[in-house]
Amino acid sequence: MSTLPTLLAATAAGAALWTLAEYLLHRFGMHHLHGRGIMSREHLEHHVHSTWSFDVNHLLSWTGMLLVGFGAWMPLTWWLAGPLAGVGVAVGWAGGYFFYEFHHAMAHLRAPGGRYGRWLRRHHFHHHFGRPMANHGVSTLLWDKVFGTYERPEQVRVPRRMALPWMVDDAGELHQRFREDYVLVGAASSDERTASLDRARAFASIAPTA
Ligand SMILES: [Zn+2]
Ligand SMILES: [Zn+2]
Repeated sequence: MSTLPTLLAATAAGAALWTLAEYLLHRFGMHHLHGRGIMSREHLEHHVHSTWSFDVNHLLSWTGMLLVGFGAWMPLTWWLAGPLAGVGVAVGWAGGYFFYEFHHAMAHLRAPGGRYGRWLRRHHFHHHFGRPMANHGVSTLLWDKVFGTYERPEQVRVPRRMALPWMVDDAGELHQRFREDYVLVGAASSDERTASLDRARAFASIAPTA
């Protein structure tokens, strides 16, 4: 194969490989481990409040994923299919990973801007608030379809205390334009008992109560 097609095919393969890793890591490396190991613990902490904010652990995962791409996938593919394929796979892997990181953070922080963003949020927040053992893919539903964990919610029931900042107005009510996709349930405030229940349920991969 000539240069460009090889590079493009390898990049696409690297990105596809990432989406499979995204699914497997999230399902088995995070939820099935119930908080054993830093990756699982950090992810289940993310489920406790369903917020997203930058912390140093992100630098750790960014570095780790770049190392996997350029330190493992690149030399392996290079050895199997040549330098172009090696570089392409690593670039596709890293691109797929940062695409996922960006869209996951934005889903928690910003209102959807288009059809894909709207789909991704409903898919991912069903994972958070409906069934944490479904919808493990964030950027694509492909692997959930393949492995039988795909669920398409009619409407996502969001505990009011966990409502995403972009969902609600100043009075804490759901914006009109999101009412087709979401409904707020329960109280806005949390007490000690609710907080410890939220933690226990997140670490057991069970949806939070209303
Ligand atoms: Zn999330
Ligand atoms: Zn999760």
